[in-house]
Amino acid sequence: MTRAAALSAGLSDRIAELAELYRDLHEHPELSFQEQRTAALVAARLTAAGFEVTAGVGGTGVVGVLRNGAGPSVLLRADMDALPVGEADRVPYRSRATAAGPDGIVGPVMHACGHDAHVTALLGAADQLAARRDHWSGTVLAVFQPAEEIGAGARAMLDDGFLDRFPRYDVALGQHITSAPSGHLYARPGVFMAAADSLRVTVFGRGGHGSMPQATVDPIVIAAAIVLRLQTIVSREIAATDVAVVTVGAIRGGSKENVIPAEAELKLNIRTFDADVRRRVLAAVERIVKAEAAAAGAPREPEIAPINDFPLLVNDEDTTRKVVAAFTESFGEDQVHETGRKPGSEDFGCFGTAAGVPSVFWNFGGFDPALYPEGPDLPQRAVAAGTAPGNHSPEFVPTEIEQTLQRATEALLTAAAIWLSPDGG
Ligand code: ZN
Ligand code: ZN
Repeated sequence: MTRAAALSAGLSDRIAELAELYRDLHEHPELSFQEQRTAALVAARLTAAGFEVTAGVGGTGVVGVLRNGAGPSVLLRADMDALPVGEADRVPYRSRATAAGPDGIVGPVMHACGHDAHVTALLGAADQLAARRDHWSGTVLAVFQPAEEIGAGARAMLDDGFLDRFPRYDVALGQHITSAPSGHLYARPGVFMAAADSLRVTVFGRGGHGSMPQATVDPIVIAAAIVLRLQTIVSREIAATDVAVVTVGAIRGGSKENVIPAEAELKLNIRTFDADVRRRVLAAVERIVKAEAAAAGAPREPEIAPINDFPLLVNDEDTTRKVVAAFTESFGEDQVHETGRKPGSEDFGCFGTAAGVPSVFWNFGGFDPALYPEGPDLPQRAVAAGTAPGNHSPEFVPTEIEQTLQRATEALLTAAAIWLSPDGG
C-alpha cells in the first residue's frame, strides 16, 4: 500500500460523521474575523485528536501541530469565513444566520464560497493523521485561517508571529471547492489566481442648489466621467496579450434630485495576473481619477484608499507537478485536470511567500456531474451559462457532500504524504 493509501485507509467510515459536521458548519456561518463558533469547534476537535492547539492566532485563527518523529513539516490550510449573502432555499440545513458586517449593517450570512467544506476536510485529514501515526513521519501544521474573503486573514496570522510561534514548514498546501463535478480535482503549475485590489475613491466637489450648477462643482458628473474613462485602461492601455479587469462595483452620491452633493464615492475592483500589469493599471486609475477631478475644477484632490488587496497566487511549478502526479496515481487520470488561470483571488499564497517555501493550491468539485453536460474538463461553461452555481452565489451549496468530503480529505492526505516520511520522500 502506498503511504497516501495508508493515510486515507478507513476514511470512508468517518464520512457520515464528517458530513454531519459539515451540515452544522453550513447552518452556522460566520463573517470574516467573527469565526468564534467555528474556531471553538475546530480547536476542540484538534485537541481531542491529540494536536497541540493554539487559538486566537491573528484574531480567530487556530493552529494545530502534530509532531510525529523525524521528517519534513507540512502546512495544511483551510479558511473558515462566510459571506454576507442570503442563502437560497435549497437544503434543510440552509443558513438563517444574520450578522453585522464591518459597517455595522446587519444582513444574512452564508457559506457561499464553501469554506465549511474546507474546514471539514482538514479536520477529517487531521483525524486520519492522528489515528494513523504509524504510517507517516514528520510534523503537520493544520492551519484554520480567518477572513480569507477580505484578503486579511493570512496576513493577520503571519503578523501575529506565526513563523516564530510554530514549527517551520517545508511546503504549504491548500485547496478550494469549485463549481465542478464532485470527485474531480483541478490544479495548475505557475500563476493560478489573480491579484486583486479593491479601492475606495472619494471625489470632492462643491455642493449647492440643483437649479444653480454654475455655483457648484458637481461630484456626480466627475464620478460619471471617471467611470467612463476607467473603461479605457483595459481597452486602450493594456496589451492584447495581457489580461486585466477594472470594475466599478459601487457608486454613491447625493440624496435628492434638486441638491448637488459635495462628494461622491466609487468602489473599484481590479484583477491582474502580472506584477507589472498591476502597477500600470493602478497608476492609470490614479492618473484618471485625479485628472477628471482637475478637469472639473474640483476644490480638492480625490482620495484613493485601499479597501483590501490579494497577492497573485502562484503555484510552485515542480512541487505542483509532484502533487498532480500523486493525485493521478491515487485517483486516476480522468479525475485530475489541469485548469486555466482564474480571475478569482486567494490569500493562501502568503504562507508560502512569508516562509520562503513552495506552496500548492488546487480546486475540488462538489456538485452533481449532471450539472456539467460538457464534461469535467469544462465546468466553467455551465457556470457561465447559469445552469450550475458559481462561488458566492446564493445557490452555492454542494450537492454530493459525502463524495465531495471524501475526495477533498483524500486530496489533502495524498499531497501531504509526498513529504511525510523520515527521509522526506
Ligand atoms: Zn470566496
Ligand atoms: Zn473562498
